Amino acid sequence: MIDRLVLASGNAGKLREFRRLLSPLGIDVIAQSELRIPESDEPHSTFVENAIAKARHASARARLPALADDSGICVDALGGAPGVQSARYAGDPRSDARNNQKLVAELARIADRRAHYYCMLVLMRTHDDPEPILAEGRWEGTIIDDARGSGGFGYDPHFLDARTGLTGAELPLERKNELSHRGKAIRALMARLDEQR
Ligand code: IMP
Repeated sequence: MIDRLVLASGNAGKLREFRRLLSPLGIDVIAQSELRIPESDEPHSTFVENAIAKARHASARARLPALADDSGICVDALGGAPGVQSARYAGDPRSDARNNQKLVAELARIADRRAHYYCMLVLMRTHDDPEPILAEGRWEGTIIDDARGSGGFGYDPHFLDARTGLTGAELPLERKNELSHRGKAIRALMARLDEQR
């Protein structure tokens, strides 16, 4: 039974969402930044490879089970971009505001606004775990030009959920977790973990 894990990320938005998702299950989430673990490289072109690299890196340094999330927003009309580059779409230093500006600019005069968030989760019980648990989730929506809402993080103010007609930044955290790529992925991951007990 896992009751404590290190989150292979320093992203405050992800941390908030994972804590809300995992604390009811009695799992304590420690951010790798709290343990002064530097971020790992994310050199790969697939979410799954980056997530494995991040989980291994965090677990080796923390000597704890590690959960890594590699996620991003994929826009149909942009051939899936920003995709794995979502965090640094507008370059360094990372900025949600500049990423969103760039996304809206790239979509100027493009009518097809379909997009989805994608999340790949990897749980490694040790850094050399030969059977990491993998789970993924998707969240469908569209990109809007004008930002709406003050919650969430990243691209949320411009991501309109297809079902509720609210942006990711307008949805209360609990509701976002019910609908989101990350919420779906963590529920799938926990189900797999349960099967293995
Ligand atoms: P990663 O830390 O390399 O996985 O980058 C993930 C990036 O994807 C974040 O920095 C955001 O730009 C974007 N992203 C992933 N999930 C979400 C979400 O739930 N809301 C908004 N943006 C997200």
